[in-house]
Amino acid sequence: MGTNLLDLKLILPEEDIERISQSDDIYDIIIIGGGPAGMTSAVYSARKQIKTLLISKDIGGQMLWTSDIENYMGFQYVTGKELTEKFRSQMEQFPIVDIILGDTVTKITKADENFVVETEKSKKFTGKTVIIASGKRYRPMNVKGEKELVGKGVSYCATCDAPLFAGKDVLVVGGGNSALTAVIDLMKLANKIYIVNITKDWQADQIMIDRIKDADNIIPLLSHKVTAIHGEKYVTGVTIESLDTKETKDITVQGVFIEIGLLPNSEFAKDIVRLNDQGEIIVDCMCNTTTPGIFAAGDVTTVPEKQISVAIGEGSKAALSAYKYLLTKS
Ligand SMILES: Cc1cc2nc3c(=O)[nH]c(=O)nc-3n(C[C@H](O)[C@H](O)[C@H](O)COP(=O)(O)OP(=O)(O)OC[C@H]3O[C@@H](n4cnc5c(N)ncnc54)[C@H](O)[C@@H]3O)c2cc1C
Repeated sequence: MGTNLLDLKLILPEEDIERISQSDDIYDIIIIGGGPAGMTSAVYSARKQIKTLLISKDIGGQMLWTSDIENYMGFQYVTGKELTEKFRSQMEQFPIVDIILGDTVTKITKADENFVVETEKSKKFTGKTVIIASGKRYRPMNVKGEKELVGKGVSYCATCDAPLFAGKDVLVVGGGNSALTAVIDLMKLANKIYIVNITKDWQADQIMIDRIKDADNIIPLLSHKVTAIHGEKYVTGVTIESLDTKETKDITVQGVFIEIGLLPNSEFAKDIVRLNDQGEIIVDCMCNTTTPGIFAAGDVTTVPEKQISVAIGEGSKAALSAYKYLLTKS
């Protein structure tokens, strides 16, 4: 494709970020997150001609971790990068949107009728409304060696890293759709693929199970868990334990792909909106959170089904709800 996804025309230069952060400027909407939900909110709010700021660590979110998308209407097949590029170029049609990339929101506080959004780079921005669309991130296993060996054979993204393991022996942890997607990515490249899952069955869709069932380089280890990852410079192996017999065994692998689900990026919002016991932001069907003026959309929320088409529907609803809220205040 050749386009740098970070090379957005709407990105604010550093000096403008500093000036706005020091000023009394107030945005109508501050959107947190540049995944499908956040980008859709930006397009909808821009079309209402309201002053919008989008703050995100990146553009694309989880779509950047996805190689094959086959269930996004209008495209029989599209890669996550291609779809991100389409969303991004649509957002770029609206110069009313300011974008700050590469920063992380750490706090939201109420200031009179408005909200102050603070970032890791110590910047502060004021908005009359906020849309939280900060999505999810990979869940760690929290076993010995995992943290130390990230990027040295431990990966949370098979789509990104599978090509590095061509001809090697690898292990995938998990039994849901993400784990089996990783296995499918690796099947064409790796030598041997162990799959360790704590339950006796897969939790993935049947279509995914069917895709792996005849592969001759896959070794399923159901009812097992990983207890340690070994290696100094790079991963050299793992220890696994049978949950039935408690027996442990060392396996030699050069790569470990951890695909055991996702955690909501909601910590920065926990003092201002209510979360459920999984850390998801509680929303109603119009994307209202428990705090009037703060809306939330996509994977970070309690909305069932975490999918791109769901996230964009929620992102559009959140922007329209924020717009209606602004009308009641003016
Ligand atoms: C491996 C994989 C494959 C998938 N395949 C499909 C598929 O085929 N079809 C499908 O429909 N869905 C698929 N999904 C799910 C889909 O990608 C998600 O449902 C969708 O991306 C959610 O969009 P979102 O905007 O809510 O969140 P995300 O995509 O998670 O985006 C969140 C954004 O917020 C930013 N952010 C997070 N925290 C902060 C913070 N504190 N401050 C600033 N920015 C922050 C992130 O950097 C990111 O830009 C897949 C997911 C994975 C992991």
